Amino acid sequence: MPHVIDTVVIGGGFSGLFIATQLVRDGRDVALLEASNRPGGVAATISENGYVLEPAAGTFMVPHRALSPILNAAGVALEEAADSAALRYVWNGDGLIVIPYGPKALGTKAISLTGKLRMAAEPFIRTKPPSGEESLRSFLTRRLGREAGTLLSHVAASGVYAGDPGTLSAAAAFPLFTEMESTAGSITRGAIRKLRALPKPRPPRPTSHVPVGGMSAAATTLAGALGERYVSEFPVSSVTREGDLFWIEGPETISARSVVIALRPDDAAKILPGMETDGLRGWPSSPVVVVGVGGTNDEVPLPEGFGFLSGPGVDATILGCLFESSFAPSTAAPGHSLAKVIVGGARYPGIIEQSDDRIVSTIISEMEAALGTPVNPSWIKIVRNQDGIPQYDLKHRQRLTIVDNLEGEHPGLIFAGWGYRGIGVAHLATEAVSISDRIE
Ligand SMILES: Cc1cc2nc3c(=O)[nH]c(=O)nc-3n(C[C@H](O)[C@H](O)[C@H](O)COP(=O)(O)OP(=O)(O)OC[C@H]3O[C@@H](n4cnc5c(N)ncnc54)[C@H](O)[C@@H]3O)c2cc1C
Repeated sequence: MPHVIDTVVIGGGFSGLFIATQLVRDGRDVALLEASNRPGGVAATISENGYVLEPAAGTFMVPHRALSPILNAAGVALEEAADSAALRYVWNGDGLIVIPYGPKALGTKAISLTGKLRMAAEPFIRTKPPSGEESLRSFLTRRLGREAGTLLSHVAASGVYAGDPGTLSAAAAFPLFTEMESTAGSITRGAIRKLRALPKPRPPRPTSHVPVGGMSAAATTLAGALGERYVSEFPVSSVTREGDLFWIEGPETISARSVVIALRPDDAAKILPGMETDGLRGWPSSPVVVVGVGGTNDEVPLPEGFGFLSGPGVDATILGCLFESSFAPSTAAPGHSLAKVIVGGARYPGIIEQSDDRIVSTIISEMEAALGTPVNPSWIKIVRNQDGIPQYDLKHRQRLTIVDNLEGEHPGLIFAGWGYRGIGVAHLATEAVSISDRIE
């Protein structure tokens, strides 16, 4: 009988890396199996000509209860972004309008006085949520009024999911909002309650940090800290269960008491023969194209700040544009600028099929319109992400019951990653801690 491992984690993206690191922190015997020859999954940094482009997540918001201890345990080196990273804009078609952070957002010029007055009335609005799933747009317009609700649902859907606020589920995509309504009767009152519940003195507010060397370097550090427990070039072909053990087939056969499948639902379905996995196939996602736009500071003049999102009334293919080198100078050589432009998503899914030339000419003219200045890049990088960003739509919570059922029928089998219960890297760390707690 070969050595039985406590827990095998399949998939060396940030989800699998965080889970394996957390299991090791909790004193568990673990192996992390990654199909490719590099860790980090979709967050595969491109370093070229002095530019550091992140085709997926590029920053960590820390300190964070779950994420910080995991990054620190592995020794991931972080650089704090410039203070101006707190400065975020919306492009309304005429120019960039500042959306201040937190309650100061009420001062933004992006919303009229009437819209702000309605927004300020939110704690006193008593509206009944509909009986079924409610879209993000419907939820936020019901709570904050038509103007603010339309704007905020649009930027939240684009900025986080490259999604459509009319088809994303409020409860699946932004559960904190709906939870605040159900527990405190209002988002504002729920937020105040949460602030009051914070320990005193209040923990420092999380700010944007970039990993030194990019996300790939962070992934390599996390994998390195796992030592021999991290196994690369191990594409798992099947996971089956016999009695209390799981058998994991790949270049070798491994047996384990628990298996965490940190793969997107479609990829998970492929490796689970003999289990009811039809319901894991074809979950919706929005393809996106990430374009790195680089040049000297004169060629690509970027304002201070984190970046802008296109507003709801703007007919543009750009969903958002991050001023990478403004808040993280190490992403471009001195005297140079780098913008990360995200196009496509649920709004323009067809853009992924367009030629490079067409994509570039469209986004450059849109950038010029938004920034109000000529843009003449000398470096361009286009990354097409056909698998796209998972969409937590109105059927998402119903689909999750398939995952719950599989986990219930096969004790020790756990699904993780951005396809299921949280899209961002901070959530993946929170999930890693709860998974480690769940495993006996
Ligand atoms: C454009 C874009 C912008 C984003 N911006 C942000 C942001 O600003 N902030 C944020 O928090 N998040 C952001 N994200 C999301 C973030 O990047 C993801 O949440 C995270 O990288 C997903 O990690 P994962 O491990 O769940 O999945 P993946 O990265 O998809 O990893 C899955 C891994 O499994 C491996 N694998 C697949 N099949 C097998 C198999 N059979 N056997 C073994 N291994 C296998 C793959 O090779 C891969 O390494 C963004 C994503 C995109 C696309």
